[in-house]
Amino acid sequence: MHRNIIKRNYRGRFAPSPTGGLHLGSLVSALASFLDAKVNQGEWLVRMEDIDPPREQEGAAQQILHSLDEHCLQSEFPVIWQSEQGEYYQRAIEQLWQQGDLYRCACSSKQIKQYRSQNEHCLCRDKKNDSFEQLNAQGYSLRIKVEAEKVVGFKDCQYGLIEQNIYQEAGDFIIRRRDGLFAYQLAVVVDDALQGITNVVRGVDLLDVTPRQIYLQQKLGFSTPVYRHVPLVCDEQGNKLSKQNFSPILNSAEALQNLQRACDHLKIAITKTQKIESLLNQAIAGWGKI
Ligand code: GLU
Repeated sequence: MHRNIIKRNYRGRFAPSPTGGLHLGSLVSALASFLDAKVNQGEWLVRMEDIDPPREQEGAAQQILHSLDEHCLQSEFPVIWQSEQGEYYQRAIEQLWQQGDLYRCACSSKQIKQYRSQNEHCLCRDKKNDSFEQLNAQGYSLRIKVEAEKVVGFKDCQYGLIEQNIYQEAGDFIIRRRDGLFAYQLAVVVDDALQGITNVVRGVDLLDVTPRQIYLQQKLGFSTPVYRHVPLVCDEQGNKLSKQNFSPILNSAEALQNLQRACDHLKIAITKTQKIESLLNQAIAGWGKI
């Protein structure tokens, strides 16, 4: 009975950074978020997190989208490109500044480390009354003030209760970089809220930054999605598969086998099939039992 209640209002997403093509690790995140949405009768979308041009690889964004299509994982909404969302990030910055939660900082990460090791803040934090224009001056990063000993907790659907003293773990973290680029932590929080994301399913490498994202959501008055982190795919040496360590890009001609491997990783049993659609239907049913 309980299982038949249709949970509407579920909206999930897959949010790749185009630093390289789709590899098995990213396919696992895409598939897990897709399956979770489908099991919950929800919507699923793809958002391209192209906010860091120096780390991007030419053609990677299109390759990822094409590869997702070939694996029959299609966004139900037009893809949002973070490179086009700047005005929303800037608006969030303005709100945080008005609330007195932001300051501009001229210190290097080495200097910040030093201050933190002495349990002190950098002097930039105490400067009063930066105007919004000053805040936007070139050559400064923007940091959010983290309240002393601030602990943020949440219940992850896979890993249980996670609590982090973000004051100690991260300190006043950056929300806009010195080079003027918006930080991932800000962009992801703003877009999840703007797109009405209710459930985030992604790799466990992001478990650690989730409390920071929740802190930002609280500061900006956004609601917090439900989080579920999934184990990473590692190579034989135990390193996370990633674009940085040149993980092989998936061959779309082997989409069925790739999806099978992703299901194996997620511990979803699949009966042999030659059709992607049948595999995905089995995977949806299997995910519902996990
Ligand atoms: N864009 C991030 C990445 O590819 C993931 C963001 C997220 O899922 O929150 O690592």
